[in-house]
Formats: sequence, structure tokens, C-alpha cells
Amino acid sequence: MKLDIKSMNQEEITAQLKELGEPAFRGKQIFVWLHKGVTSFDHMTNLSKSLREKLKEHYFITVPQIERKLVSQIDGTIKYLWRLGDGNCIETVLMKYKHGNSVCISTEVGCKMGCVFCASTQAGFVRRLEASEILDQVLFTQIDSGEPISNIVLMGIGEPLDNYDNVMKFLHLVNHPDGMNIGMRHISLSTCGLVNQIDRLAESDLQLTLSVSLHAPDDETRNKLLPINRSTGAEKLMKACRAYFQKTGRRISFEYAMIDGVNDSDQQADMLAKHLKGMPGHVNLIGLNDIKESPLKPSKRVAAFQKRLESHGITATVRRKLGSDIDAACGQLRRSMLEKSQEGSKGDVK
Ligand code: SAH
Repeated sequence: MKLDIKSMNQEEITAQLKELGEPAFRGKQIFVWLHKGVTSFDHMTNLSKSLREKLKEHYFITVPQIERKLVSQIDGTIKYLWRLGDGNCIETVLMKYKHGNSVCISTEVGCKMGCVFCASTQAGFVRRLEASEILDQVLFTQIDSGEPISNIVLMGIGEPLDNYDNVMKFLHLVNHPDGMNIGMRHISLSTCGLVNQIDRLAESDLQLTLSVSLHAPDDETRNKLLPINRSTGAEKLMKACRAYFQKTGRRISFEYAMIDGVNDSDQQADMLAKHLKGMPGHVNLIGLNDIKESPLKPSKRVAAFQKRLESHGITATVRRKLGSDIDAACGQLRRSMLEKSQEGSKGDVK
């Protein structure tokens, strides 16, 4: 069986090459090529033909295909639906800001977290992405769009902390000076709140930004919206967040999608403020993306809720919406594609 060479770090590639009887510097050469986005060993022109043939025998290079590409006429946001080597599809969104381009990437095919407002989880979970497949989204978005990428958010399809090892591998790959060299401080990882994994992440002491999808301060509401909360509870989650800040010194960003009549009351703002007391955090208020078949509707109290939080000394910003004309919210494109293929060939969906 051939091995996925792009999921390997430079030391692993070097060790593999050593086994093939090659000098150590070949490891770096191959790593550099892979992280430039070459699609074939034949493009590695500083390697001999015989080495290239040997590499082909033992390894493969992942190359996602563009299944669909949508460009927003409003703000230039680009959304990619990629087809992976095994036929599965995932989404990536490129957002253009004054301070640089940011890419929102997926970490799993589907999601098992079951959050009721989220399109990514509705068709269930298929599999975790390999480190190479996570990296490819950054690499090939940059190559295809011609836009240099300076920031990454792990906020696409999937739960990054449910794919902990591959996500860690990816973070080290994308951060490598011989690769894309994107600084940890330019990377945000978003989680629905896997407490044990937040503790693990704190121990790894990376300088990335942790975003926690809180969405409700009280267990009654949070249990309904995010099933993961039923086993942990908001109190334990906030405790893990406090410990994370103490260990890393990095302030956490709390995501809060505003839902009409569900999580947008003044009492809930007060409770949220109480949770955040003594912890330098930041609340990111998000207008709920109206997803099909969902009874949940966007709140009309965003400004009032923000004001209430601010009256408690909590910084809260309202997220600017990008790409609204191209269904840029995560999970929506893959889902509409799945629905279409279900109509076309029932039972034939990957
Ligand atoms: N699993 C991770 C990352 C993916 S979701 C997490 O839960 O954080 C990225 C963000 O989009 C999360 O904050 C998620 O709660 C939010 N989100 C999902 N569906 C949404 C919707 N319909 N409207 C607004 N935000 C949504």
C-alpha cells in the first residue's frame, strides 16, 4: 500500500528516504516541493528520474479536484467544494479582508456533533480528514485563487478537536518555515467544547487562538442546541477555558450565534457576562445563518444583547457577514450537492 507522503513531517520524510538509501537533504527537497503544491513526483525536477520512480512506487500525493467554485459578486469571497481522492466532498471558503486573506477550512467529512443549527452535521459523519487533506485546502486555495493566504480559521465542516492528532499534524506542517510558514498567531481553531481536548490543547501551548462555540450560557438552552453539552455542562467548559487562558496566556474568543427567542434575552447576556468574569475573553456575536428546514430564526436583538454585554465590561463584536450570495456558511454547499446526487442516483451517495 502506498503512503500519504504529504501527511508526513520533514523528519518523517527524511527517515523514509534514508530507508530508501537516500541522503538526508532529499527529505527537505521533497518537503519543499510538496508544500509548493506539486501534483506529481515528476515535477520534482531536482531529483533524479530513478528516485522519482522509486517515490512513485511507495508514496502518493493528494490532489483535491475542484468540484464547484463560487465567487461572491458582493465581496469577492470564494467558496470551493473539493472532491477528495475517495470521492468525498468538503468545503473551503476564502475571505478577503483589508488585513489579509483568510481561509476557512474543514477538518472532517461531515460531523458527529449534532448541533441543531448547523448544516455540517445534518447528513451525519463520514470520516476524519488526513493532515494532507487539511493542508491541501490552504495550499490549493492559494494556488487556484492566486491570493496569498495569511490567516487560517478551522471553522469549516467538522469538529477539529474530534480529529485531534491529524489537526495537530496539520498545524505543524502549515507552520513550518520550509512550507507555507503561517504563524500560529494567525490561526484560529473553533470547537463546540470538547473539554478533555481543550485541556490537551492547553498543554501543547501553541500560540493559536481558541474559539469556543458557546451559543448559550445556561445548560438548559445549551443542551438543546449543542448535544455535547449534555455530558459536560457549561460550568466545566468554562473551567477548561479559564485553565486554557492561564496556561497559554491567549485570550479566548466565544462564538455566539444569535437565535430569536432562544439565546438572546438580557438574562442570558447577564449570565454570559458572569461566566466571563475574571477571564479576558471576547464575544463574537454571529447572525444565525438561516438553514433550510430549521425552525430556528435569526435574532432581532443583536444590538441590544451586545449593549448589555458591554454594560458588564465584556467586549463583544458583531461578525460581518461575507459571501451571503454564495451560501458561504459552512456545510451548505456540500449538503446541497448531497441532496442533488441523492435525487439523481438514490443510494449512490458517498
Ligand atoms: N465544530 C467547530 C467548528 C465548525 S462550526 C465548532 O463547533 O466550533 C464554525 C462556527 O459556525 C461555530 O461557531 C458554529 O457553531 C457556527 N455555526 C454553525 N452553524 C451556524 C449557523 N447556522 N449560523 C451561525 N453560525 C453557525
